[in-house]
Amino acid sequence: MHKKLFIPGPVEIAPEILQAMAYPMIGHRMPEYALLHKTVTTGLKQVMLTNNRVFLATSSAFGVMEGAVRNLVKGRCVNFCNGAFSDKWHDVTLRCGKEADAVKVPWGSPITPELVEQALATGRYDSFTLIHNETSTGVMSPLTEIMAVAGRYPEVISIVDTVSSMSAMPIPVDKLGIDVCIFGVQKAFALPPGLAVFSASERALERAKSVEGRGYYFDFLEFAANDDKDNTPSTPCISLVYALEKQLERFFAEGLEQRWNRHRELAAQVRQWVERRGLNFFVEEPYRSVTLTCVANNRGIDLKNLKSALGQRGYAFDDGYGKLKGETFRIAHMGDLLPGELKEFIALIDELTPGF
Ligand SMILES: *Cc1c(COP(=O)(O)O)cnc(C)c1O
Repeated sequence: MHKKLFIPGPVEIAPEILQAMAYPMIGHRMPEYALLHKTVTTGLKQVMLTNNRVFLATSSAFGVMEGAVRNLVKGRCVNFCNGAFSDKWHDVTLRCGKEADAVKVPWGSPITPELVEQALATGRYDSFTLIHNETSTGVMSPLTEIMAVAGRYPEVISIVDTVSSMSAMPIPVDKLGIDVCIFGVQKAFALPPGLAVFSASERALERAKSVEGRGYYFDFLEFAANDDKDNTPSTPCISLVYALEKQLERFFAEGLEQRWNRHRELAAQVRQWVERRGLNFFVEEPYRSVTLTCVANNRGIDLKNLKSALGQRGYAFDDGYGKLKGETFRIAHMGDLLPGELKEFIALIDELTPGF
């Protein structure tokens, strides 16, 4: 039996998307592909609110997260860390042989503009990495305020992960001045995994020119040269690009604003339930994510049991990430999820946990 996914990625995929992936294959050096590529990158620019170049990489998000570090860190990088994915990005930066410092706050806390100011004001860094929405903890850091700080340090390249937030809310890449904005498509975008999208500013591409050891597969300059021909450096996951084309059509049919509103509504629905059941939030306002809610297990729910009971009823549920297992659980409300579907899921949790 297929379990309906309420985990924070991968998420449920619309049947039309799965069908789009079954289209007959084309060659990526055929004109048909260039047309598809152009359509998709044009749509992505509308969603990302950018005129920067937008590239498609056949990899999960971490492929490009590693690539960005290899392309853009010339001297020293600061990695802002407030959860599992941002901690890992610091480790990846070091493994690429780059000089980097981690600025860490406890899991559940946001990265604040003050922290970013403090780090950049040292003058030690030529780049930083930031995760907008830490999916491991349900924290959304204040991107607008952070980018306002970053704007005062034009020599520092900003690399921002929006894996679990892009398309769920407005993230105006150009207005905010994000040099490189990266996301994988299996979370907020609600596509099957295997494709990552990123935008790069001219400043970022200029920086890449002077950085050694960019490698090949994620060389930003290779992406730029191929983008001139509406193409990719190596064979892309064409079936996923079909899926992305279909998904962008669906986004525009729903309307971007409607998509943003729907996510606000979903988040409100879960938050009301958390309060009604006397549970605590793991994250303080105003840093609660709009795409997933991390709940503190203060009522001592047997999460292992709940996960297995939900599984038997056909739902996949997440009982906390890594070191937070048992202490917290996460309800994802991203992608194409509808309020009615979330309501059903919540009602089922109520049915299965009458006692607490
Ligand atoms: C899931 C996730 C990643 C990792 O993505 P992969 O596609 O598994 O490489 C990175 N950042 C965030 C915020 C995520 O939620």
